[in-house]
Amino acid sequence: MQLSDTVNKIKPSATIAAAAEAKALKSTGVKVFEFTLGEPDFVTPKHICEAATAAMQAGHTHYTPVAGIPELRQAIVDAFERDHGVKYAPEQVVCSNGAKHSIHNVLTALCGPGDEVIIPTPYWVSYSDLVEIAGATPVLVDTTEDSGFCLSAEQFEAAITDKTKLLMLNNPCNPTGAAYPIEQLEAIAKVAVKHQIPVLSDEIYEKLIYEGYSFRSFASFGDDVKDLTIVVNGVSKAYAMTGWRMGWTLAPLDVSKAMSKLQSQETSCPSSITQYATVAALNGPQDCVTDMLREFSKRREYVLGRLRALPDVTFAEPGGAFYAFFNVSAYFGKTLGGGAVVNNATEFCSALLKEGPVALVTGDAFGAEGYVRLSFATNMETISGGLDRLEAFLKG
Ligand code: PLP
Repeated sequence: MQLSDTVNKIKPSATIAAAAEAKALKSTGVKVFEFTLGEPDFVTPKHICEAATAAMQAGHTHYTPVAGIPELRQAIVDAFERDHGVKYAPEQVVCSNGAKHSIHNVLTALCGPGDEVIIPTPYWVSYSDLVEIAGATPVLVDTTEDSGFCLSAEQFEAAITDKTKLLMLNNPCNPTGAAYPIEQLEAIAKVAVKHQIPVLSDEIYEKLIYEGYSFRSFASFGDDVKDLTIVVNGVSKAYAMTGWRMGWTLAPLDVSKAMSKLQSQETSCPSSITQYATVAALNGPQDCVTDMLREFSKRREYVLGRLRALPDVTFAEPGGAFYAFFNVSAYFGKTLGGGAVVNNATEFCSALLKEGPVALVTGDAFGAEGYVRLSFATNMETISGGLDRLEAFLKG
């Protein structure tokens, strides 16, 4: 059958593909040290699961209002005000089937053919493909390890043309873990206001910030900035709820109404049961989030210590999220474990999966040549064993 140009243009998610490759190897009985997927290895906290069970038993198993049940939209605006001191009306919230779906809604509501969307690289794998699905053109702006992988206000301003429709900002960032310094964020916000460019601020890792770093929501820099901001967030990362599929946006009312209209034709609403569970996540005790952060923090220290000890491996310290993103290009062209000689990060990951077997994701998937991503959202035994194998592989 003749497939559409749109679907032919996009690639499958590279992280999901890398995880599937590792899984296929595992199914043959091989022990694989797996670092591909960005999902917490913790179980969803008990009180959240209980709220879902209670919702089912109470018969909340039908369609809900398109943008979410009133209790959930209220819980989201309450949490945002509690965390960031910024008020939204519940009507400005649209709940969707995961933050990925929220991003799709934003792009479809705002962008189309002829529009440009600025994306700082390295970027989360799905950004450019979701822009292409909307028919718009991704404009990639490179950030570097030296600048902590953060876009500068000057770079942003230089990338703006009369076709620019949106900036996609991800703070803290997947894959680099970059947590933007507050002043830098504020400078970007000033440029957005000066040129009236809307900003999609993907804040899904906002709860995962490490000591020495801080977080400010992009919507918190004043009403003129808030009026241009669409905040994207969800429960996947902070509450270990990747499989529940819940994400949301906080946006100006006209954009929220447009996204609700879209969603009414796409999915009708997110899962009713997940919506009740999310109310429990947001309104319930938050110590589960701090407990998980404490554990991630220990793993991060360990991983960074091990990476520092690897000759010629470089990286920018991740201030948030649960990824280490490091440069292995010094090893290209050299003889590695099992006699492998590789010329780029994609070949590096394939050889490491064969020899380790350690599964990382190539930086090529995130628009960053020479880099690989290691997700430390996995247990310490896997982390220490996998890093032993990586070290041995680099030694050749
Ligand atoms: N945004 C970023 C930066 C992510 O890393 C992810 C997941 O990996 C998402 C959004 C989507 O999260 P979900 O669709 O699970 O809510």
